[in-house]
Amino acid sequence: MKIHSNIPIFISHQGCHYNCVYCNQRLITGKAELPNKAQIKRTIEVYLSTLEDAIPKEIAFFGGSFTALTKEEQSFYLDIARSYVGQHGIEGIRFSTRPDAIDEEEMAFLSDYPISTIELGVQSLDTSVLRASGRGHGIVDVLRAVNLVRQKEIALGLQMMTGLPEDHYDAAIFTAEKIISLKPAFVRIYPTLVLKGTPLENMMNKGFYTPWNLEETVEICSDILSLFMGAQIPVIRLGLYSSEKSFLDSIVAGPYHPALRGLVMGRLYQKALKKIVGPWEIEIHPKELSYLLGHGKENVIYFEQRGISLVYTLNDTVPRGGFLQGGHFVPIH
Ligand code: SF4
Repeated sequence: MKIHSNIPIFISHQGCHYNCVYCNQRLITGKAELPNKAQIKRTIEVYLSTLEDAIPKEIAFFGGSFTALTKEEQSFYLDIARSYVGQHGIEGIRFSTRPDAIDEEEMAFLSDYPISTIELGVQSLDTSVLRASGRGHGIVDVLRAVNLVRQKEIALGLQMMTGLPEDHYDAAIFTAEKIISLKPAFVRIYPTLVLKGTPLENMMNKGFYTPWNLEETVEICSDILSLFMGAQIPVIRLGLYSSEKSFLDSIVAGPYHPALRGLVMGRLYQKALKKIVGPWEIEIHPKELSYLLGHGKENVIYFEQRGISLVYTLNDTVPRGGFLQGGHFVPIH
């Protein structure tokens, strides 16, 4: 994947009339007000001052359901963003939205703008999970929205969640497999966190919902990541992360970890290593070493407890996502 940068503009919860049980967008973004024109321009210009023109960029509206805004509001944002496209490496406009907020009329409206990427919040392709999570849309809405985006020259990203109410291993794997069949350009995976003040917190307190713990999240996400790696679909984000205090303070329960992707990659290495029979001298790309060793040397300890010492050589010609053993490449997916 080429190096690319997003210039993020947060439009927290704006345009969304739904209340997914897990959502509190105001806390996630730490901003409840719509940004005005001067704020948006300032954000863009601050980012531009730190990024080389040669780096491809998109102006990205995140945080809400963009196409559920009124057309006037969408135009307000898109007109500002459009005035920058074509300059300083800005290649287009990107936003995230709900599948049921995309229809033919919306796509016709958007065709006046240089939209380069649309991310759809699929979250699950299991009907029970969608219903129990208060998503307010079904699988058919996802398929229709995917088809509509596909008809344009717009990159399609899909987001899925794990550990929502009614979710389980098979449902999560099924969702990942269906997403792969839709051939998105990239995917984001968000394990469910219980945030303060959300219906999910209430469900948990009443005993109707049990959040997944970190161990089961790492285990299941490693199988999901393996599927996407095997299908060569980039997972550009694994885990919700924000350093904003308001967000961190809002987490009541759930598998939060600031280095979740590292934990999951470490688990994939552990699984791949378990399948091989010595010799244990392996070669690995330097950037994969921390995954090989595992978080807190988890994998080193795991194998030492079984009488095996991992002996490795760093070699930056080894492809990432696996290691060489006896001259043969062993992929981790
Ligand atoms: S659609 Fe998005 S913004 Fe709206 S309630 Fe659900 S998660 Fe929150």
